[in-house]
Amino acid sequence: MSNRANNFRPTVHGARLIEDLATFASFGGRQDGGVDRVAGSQADLEAREWLQQKIYEAGLLPRTDEIGNVFGRSPRAEWPRLLTGSHTDTVPAGGRLDGAYGVMAALEVLRTLDEANHPSAKYVEIVGFWDEEGVRDPGTGGLVGSTFFCEKGYVQNYQSYIELHIEQGPALESADVSIGVVAGIVGIERYAIDVTGTANHAGTTAMNNRADAGLAATTMASRVRDTTTACSDRLRINVGSIEFFPGSPNVIPGQARMIVEIRDPFDSVLREAEQKIRLLADETAASEGCHASVQKFSQKSAVLFDKGIHRAIREIIHNHGGEFLDMVSYAGHDASVISKHIPTGMLFVPSVGGVSHSPAESTSDKHLIHGCQVLLDAVVALSSDRS
Ligand SMILES: [Zn+2]
Repeated sequence: MSNRANNFRPTVHGARLIEDLATFASFGGRQDGGVDRVAGSQADLEAREWLQQKIYEAGLLPRTDEIGNVFGRSPRAEWPRLLTGSHTDTVPAGGRLDGAYGVMAALEVLRTLDEANHPSAKYVEIVGFWDEEGVRDPGTGGLVGSTFFCEKGYVQNYQSYIELHIEQGPALESADVSIGVVAGIVGIERYAIDVTGTANHAGTTAMNNRADAGLAATTMASRVRDTTTACSDRLRINVGSIEFFPGSPNVIPGQARMIVEIRDPFDSVLREAEQKIRLLADETAASEGCHASVQKFSQKSAVLFDKGIHRAIREIIHNHGGEFLDMVSYAGHDASVISKHIPTGMLFVPSVGGVSHSPAESTSDKHLIHGCQVLLDAVVALSSDRS
């Protein structure tokens, strides 16, 4: 590939991208501006049929795999290919951009490259993954389409994957920066802490002679935030529920159960936080004459994206005089599944008010169009980096 060809920089058609996003949002569209397009619904089926039609109308070749992921490529496509896209489904009463933006932007990027006869058009394929949210069957934990794509081994045909997504948080808006280059996705761990004391009469038992599991659990809950955030200022912790048993006004709780979730970009920090949670549980329970047992019932390891892709994306933005924020994602994405198999990178655009999974989900047209152009620049840089 000649340098001359590589230096030529096509510009995405912003108005076309915005129009496609509006049309796509009409599949499952709600009066309040939100979208109901749960995977497996009629709206989901129609949206994915429309996407294939749109790919075809652009002079590209659409196809689906056995599970319903939708792909598009140039008729002149060659291997190896860079894959870019996101997911087509939403949560119930979701927004119009989560997932859909990355798919529509990928279509706009490939369409622009193909129309411009750009050499990179041959080496790019786009994807709309099916069922990322996992609403259809919560037992799956989501990421169904991308997991299928990897388990079948199809992922091995591709050189790399880039996903453009809305941030779903407030960091970019707060920093007034239009692009986030995502270094990785946080690990997420969930713990059940069971405290055992002695159930007894709430009136006749002296205050200094109680093994109150409820008091031990609430004391733990009030301390666990400070205890764990001391490990790292990036750590996020949530006490999602506390239950007392038997749960009666006249019985001292003999049992209490607390559910705690922690998130951090580094597994080493999660290990340290886990130790602190276990120590806190033991000490607090003992001080109330109770016993605690801590069980980790769910664990998703932290994901670190490919350093080479991360660096290349930062460079390309820098070379075009743009600003970006280095960040980690506190939410899961298809990119986390793919990154276990091929070099992967992610880009974020700002979410107004940090709101997502809601009809109020929004990003300015300016940021949507700019993000799409950065995706094109990144795709060109990375797909021509093979010789
Ligand atoms: Zn998403």
